[in-house]
Amino acid sequence: MELSQKNIQNNLAAVLEAVREAEKKAGRQPGSVKLLAVSKFHEAQAVRAAMEADQLLFGENRVQEAKAKFAEIRGEGLQPELHIIGTLQRNKIKDAVLIADCIESVDRLEVLEDIEKHCAKAGKTIQVLFEFHTGEESKSGFETAGAMEQAVALCASGGTPHVIPRGFMTMAPFTDDEACIRRSFSLMRETAQHMQNMFPSLKLDVLSMGMSGDYRIAIEEGSTLVRVGTAIFGERSMAAKQ
Ligand SMILES: *Cc1c(COP(=O)(O)O)cnc(C)c1O
Repeated sequence: MELSQKNIQNNLAAVLEAVREAEKKAGRQPGSVKLLAVSKFHEAQAVRAAMEADQLLFGENRVQEAKAKFAEIRGEGLQPELHIIGTLQRNKIKDAVLIADCIESVDRLEVLEDIEKHCAKAGKTIQVLFEFHTGEESKSGFETAGAMEQAVALCASGGTPHVIPRGFMTMAPFTDDEACIRRSFSLMRETAQHMQNMFPSLKLDVLSMGMSGDYRIAIEEGSTLVRVGTAIFGERSMAAKQ
Protein backbone atom coordinates (compact mmCIF):
# COMPACT_ATOMS: atom_id res chain seq x y z
CA MET A 1 0.00 0.00 0.00
CA GLU A 2 1.28 3.44 -0.92
CA LEU A 3 0.93 6.11 1.72
CA SER A 4 -1.68 8.78 1.10
CA GLN A 5 -0.66 12.14 -0.29
CA LYS A 6 -1.31 13.67 3.12
CA ASN A 7 0.89 11.12 4.90
CA ILE A 8 3.75 11.68 2.48
CA GLN A 9 3.49 15.45 2.91
CA ASN A 10 3.42 15.12 6.71
CA ASN A 11 6.44 12.80 6.65
CA LEU A 12 8.29 15.18 4.36
CA ALA A 13 7.64 18.10 6.69
CA ALA A 14 8.80 16.05 9.69
CA VAL A 15 12.03 14.97 7.96
CA LEU A 16 12.76 18.54 6.87
CA GLU A 17 12.24 19.73 10.42
CA ALA A 18 14.54 16.99 11.77
CA VAL A 19 17.17 17.99 9.20
CA ARG A 20 16.97 21.64 10.31
CA GLU A 21 17.21 20.57 13.95
CA ALA A 22 20.23 18.39 13.26
CA GLU A 23 21.91 21.29 11.40
CA LYS A 24 21.33 23.52 14.39
CA LYS A 25 22.55 20.95 16.89
CA ALA A 26 25.71 20.39 14.86
CA GLY A 27 26.36 24.12 14.56
CA ARG A 28 25.86 23.96 10.81
CA GLN A 29 24.54 26.85 8.72
CA PRO A 30 20.71 26.68 8.43
CA GLY A 31 19.83 25.29 5.01
CA SER A 32 23.31 23.85 4.38
CA VAL A 33 21.90 20.31 4.13
CA LYS A 34 19.68 19.46 1.16
CA LEU A 35 17.12 16.68 1.13
CA LEU A 36 17.02 14.14 -1.69
CA ALA A 37 13.69 12.30 -1.57
CA VAL A 38 14.38 8.70 -2.60
CA SER A 39 11.29 7.54 -4.52
CA LYS A 40 12.57 4.15 -5.69
CA PHE A 41 9.90 1.43 -5.70
CA HIS A 42 7.18 4.05 -5.24
CA GLU A 43 4.69 5.14 -7.87
CA ALA A 44 4.69 8.44 -9.76
CA GLN A 45 1.81 9.49 -7.52
CA ALA A 46 4.15 9.56 -4.52
CA VAL A 47 6.53 11.87 -6.40
CA ARG A 48 3.63 14.17 -7.31
CA ALA A 49 2.56 14.34 -3.66
CA ALA A 50 6.06 15.38 -2.59
CA MET A 51 6.33 17.91 -5.42
CA GLU A 52 3.08 19.51 -4.33
CA ALA A 53 4.78 20.13 -1.00
CA ASP A 54 7.66 21.87 -2.85
CA GLN A 55 10.11 18.96 -2.86
CA LEU A 56 12.01 19.16 -6.17
CA LEU A 57 14.99 16.85 -5.64
CA PHE A 58 14.50 13.08 -6.10
CA GLY A 59 16.70 10.01 -6.08
CA GLU A 60 16.20 6.70 -7.86
CA ASN A 61 18.49 3.70 -7.96
CA ARG A 62 17.19 1.81 -10.99
CA VAL A 63 17.44 3.47 -14.37
CA GLN A 64 14.57 1.62 -16.08
CA GLU A 65 12.17 2.35 -13.26
CA ALA A 66 13.23 6.00 -13.05
CA LYS A 67 12.98 6.47 -16.81
CA ALA A 68 9.30 5.48 -16.97
CA LYS A 69 8.31 7.25 -13.76
CA PHE A 70 10.03 10.55 -14.49
CA ALA A 71 8.96 10.59 -18.15
CA GLU A 72 5.41 10.49 -16.82
CA ILE A 73 6.07 13.26 -14.27
CA ARG A 74 7.91 15.47 -16.75
CA GLY A 75 5.22 14.84 -19.34
CA GLU A 76 2.87 16.67 -17.01
CA GLY A 77 5.09 19.74 -17.18
CA LEU A 78 6.61 19.20 -13.73
CA GLN A 79 10.37 19.78 -13.43
CA PRO A 80 11.89 17.59 -10.73
CA GLU A 81 15.65 17.27 -10.39
CA LEU A 82 16.70 13.63 -10.57
CA HIS A 83 19.76 11.96 -9.08
CA ILE A 84 20.69 8.37 -9.89
CA ILE A 85 22.03 6.77 -6.71
CA GLY A 86 22.30 3.07 -7.57
CA THR A 87 25.23 1.12 -8.95
CA LEU A 88 25.20 1.42 -12.75
CA GLN A 89 25.67 -1.41 -15.16
CA ARG A 90 27.40 -0.15 -18.27
CA ASN A 91 24.41 -0.87 -20.52
CA LYS A 92 22.27 1.48 -18.40
CA ILE A 93 24.59 4.47 -18.53
CA LYS A 94 23.21 5.88 -21.79
CA ASP A 95 19.68 6.14 -20.38
CA ALA A 96 20.96 7.33 -17.00
CA VAL A 97 22.71 10.23 -18.70
CA LEU A 98 19.56 11.16 -20.62
CA ILE A 99 17.24 11.26 -17.61
CA ALA A 100 19.44 12.42 -14.71
CA ASP A 101 20.74 15.77 -13.54
CA CYS A 102 23.34 14.08 -11.35
CA ILE A 103 24.79 10.58 -11.11
CA GLU A 104 25.88 9.98 -7.51
CA SER A 105 27.12 6.44 -8.02
CA VAL A 106 30.30 6.82 -10.07
CA ASP A 107 32.23 3.91 -8.59
CA ARG A 108 34.73 2.95 -11.27
CA LEU A 109 36.76 4.71 -13.94
CA GLU A 110 34.88 3.03 -16.80
CA VAL A 111 31.59 4.42 -15.53
CA LEU A 112 33.01 7.93 -15.60
CA GLU A 113 34.40 7.38 -19.10
CA ASP A 114 31.06 6.02 -20.34
CA ILE A 115 29.18 8.95 -18.81
CA GLU A 116 31.49 11.35 -20.63
CA LYS A 117 31.05 9.47 -23.91
CA HIS A 118 27.26 9.43 -23.74
CA CYS A 119 27.04 13.06 -22.61
CA ALA A 120 29.25 14.12 -25.51
CA LYS A 121 26.95 12.28 -27.93
CA ALA A 122 23.85 13.80 -26.38
CA GLY A 123 25.37 17.29 -26.16
CA LYS A 124 24.68 17.39 -22.44
CA THR A 125 26.70 18.09 -19.33
CA ILE A 126 25.94 16.21 -16.13
CA GLN A 127 26.94 16.46 -12.49
CA VAL A 128 28.54 13.49 -10.79
CA LEU A 129 29.53 12.37 -7.32
CA PHE A 130 32.20 9.76 -6.69
CA GLU A 131 30.92 6.95 -4.51
CA PHE A 132 33.39 5.77 -1.90
CA HIS A 133 33.22 2.47 -0.06
CA THR A 134 33.44 3.23 3.65
CA GLY A 135 31.40 0.47 5.30
CA GLU A 136 32.34 -3.18 5.51
CA GLU A 137 28.94 -4.51 4.51
CA SER A 138 28.02 -2.38 1.53
CA LYS A 139 29.57 -3.51 -1.69
CA SER A 140 29.34 -0.37 -3.78
CA GLY A 141 31.80 2.44 -4.25
CA PHE A 142 35.47 2.80 -5.05
CA GLU A 143 37.35 0.34 -2.86
CA THR A 144 40.39 2.54 -2.34
CA ALA A 145 41.07 6.27 -2.24
CA GLY A 146 43.79 5.65 -4.82
CA ALA A 147 41.33 4.22 -7.35
CA MET A 148 38.95 7.09 -6.73
CA GLU A 149 41.78 9.59 -7.09
CA GLN A 150 42.43 8.33 -10.62
CA ALA A 151 38.86 9.15 -11.59
CA VAL A 152 38.93 12.58 -9.96
CA ALA A 153 42.26 13.24 -11.66
CA LEU A 154 40.75 12.47 -15.06
CA CYS A 155 38.16 15.20 -14.44
CA ALA A 156 40.77 17.64 -13.11
CA SER A 157 42.94 17.15 -16.19
CA GLY A 158 40.09 18.13 -18.51
CA GLY A 159 39.52 14.58 -19.70
CA THR A 160 35.75 14.72 -19.09
CA PRO A 161 34.51 18.06 -20.46
CA HIS A 162 30.84 17.04 -20.21
CA VAL A 163 31.08 16.01 -16.58
CA ILE A 164 30.90 18.38 -13.62
CA PRO A 165 32.31 16.63 -10.54
CA ARG A 166 30.59 17.99 -7.44
CA GLY A 167 31.77 15.77 -4.61
CA PHE A 168 31.27 12.39 -2.99
CA MET A 169 28.70 9.87 -1.84
CA THR A 170 28.85 7.04 0.64
CA MET A 171 26.63 4.53 2.42
CA ALA A 172 27.28 3.65 6.03
CA PRO A 173 27.03 0.00 7.06
CA PHE A 174 23.57 -1.23 8.07
CA THR A 175 24.07 -1.56 11.80
CA ASP A 176 22.82 -0.18 15.10
CA ASP A 177 26.39 0.54 16.12
CA GLU A 178 26.44 4.33 16.02
CA ALA A 179 30.21 4.56 16.41
CA CYS A 180 30.62 2.37 13.37
CA ILE A 181 28.25 4.52 11.28
CA ARG A 182 30.02 7.66 12.46
CA ARG A 183 33.42 6.24 11.47
CA SER A 184 32.13 5.55 8.00
CA PHE A 185 30.90 9.14 7.55
CA SER A 186 34.00 10.73 9.04
CA LEU A 187 36.22 8.61 6.80
CA MET A 188 34.22 9.94 3.84
CA ARG A 189 34.55 13.53 5.03
CA GLU A 190 38.31 13.22 5.54
CA THR A 191 38.82 11.50 2.18
CA ALA A 192 36.76 14.22 0.47
CA GLN A 193 38.83 16.92 2.13
CA HIS A 194 41.99 15.17 1.01
CA MET A 195 40.73 15.01 -2.61
CA GLN A 196 39.69 18.67 -2.52
CA ASN A 197 43.21 19.60 -1.36
CA MET A 198 44.74 17.47 -4.10
CA PHE A 199 42.55 18.94 -6.85
CA PRO A 200 41.97 22.60 -5.94
CA SER A 201 40.76 23.42 -9.46
CA LEU A 202 37.62 21.36 -8.83
CA LYS A 203 34.80 22.37 -6.51
CA LEU A 204 34.07 19.15 -4.60
CA ASP A 205 31.77 20.51 -1.94
CA VAL A 206 28.90 18.01 -2.00
CA LEU A 207 28.95 15.22 0.59
CA SER A 208 26.01 12.88 0.03
CA MET A 209 25.69 10.86 3.22
CA GLY A 210 22.81 9.73 5.39
CA MET A 211 19.62 7.69 4.83
CA SER A 212 16.40 7.31 6.85
CA GLY A 213 18.13 5.53 9.72
CA ASP A 214 21.28 7.59 10.02
CA TYR A 215 20.85 11.05 8.48
CA ARG A 216 21.11 12.85 11.83
CA ILE A 217 24.52 11.31 12.43
CA ALA A 218 25.52 12.11 8.85
CA ILE A 219 24.64 15.78 9.35
CA GLU A 220 26.80 15.90 12.48
CA GLU A 221 29.61 14.44 10.38
CA GLY A 222 29.33 17.07 7.65
CA SER A 223 26.78 15.76 5.15
CA THR A 224 25.42 18.36 2.71
CA LEU A 225 22.89 16.04 1.05
CA VAL A 226 20.82 13.39 2.81
CA ARG A 227 19.08 10.66 0.77
CA VAL A 228 15.86 9.74 2.52
CA GLY A 229 13.32 7.22 1.23
CA THR A 230 11.44 5.18 3.83
CA ALA A 231 10.99 8.03 6.32
CA ILE A 232 9.14 10.02 3.62
CA PHE A 233 7.38 7.48 1.40
CA GLY A 234 6.99 4.54 3.78
CA GLU A 235 8.01 0.96 3.17
CA ARG A 236 8.81 0.26 -0.46
CA SER A 237 5.74 -1.17 -2.15
CA MET A 238 7.02 -1.91 -5.64
CA ALA A 239 9.47 -4.50 -4.34
CA ALA A 240 7.81 -7.06 -6.56
CA LYS A 241 9.23 -5.20 -9.54
CA GLN A 242 12.82 -5.75 -8.38
C1 LIG B 1 17.39 3.30 -1.03
C2 LIG B 1 18.55 4.20 -0.87
C3 LIG B 1 18.48 5.29 0.03
C4 LIG B 1 17.28 5.58 0.91
O1 LIG B 1 17.15 4.61 1.89
P1 LIG B 1 16.08 4.74 3.08
O2 LIG B 1 16.64 3.89 4.14
O3 LIG B 1 14.78 4.24 2.54
O4 LIG B 1 16.01 6.18 3.47
C5 LIG B 1 19.60 6.12 0.11
N1 LIG B 1 20.70 5.91 -0.64
C6 LIG B 1 20.80 4.88 -1.50
C7 LIG B 1 22.05 4.71 -2.28
C8 LIG B 1 19.73 4.00 -1.64
O5 LIG B 1 19.84 2.96 -2.50
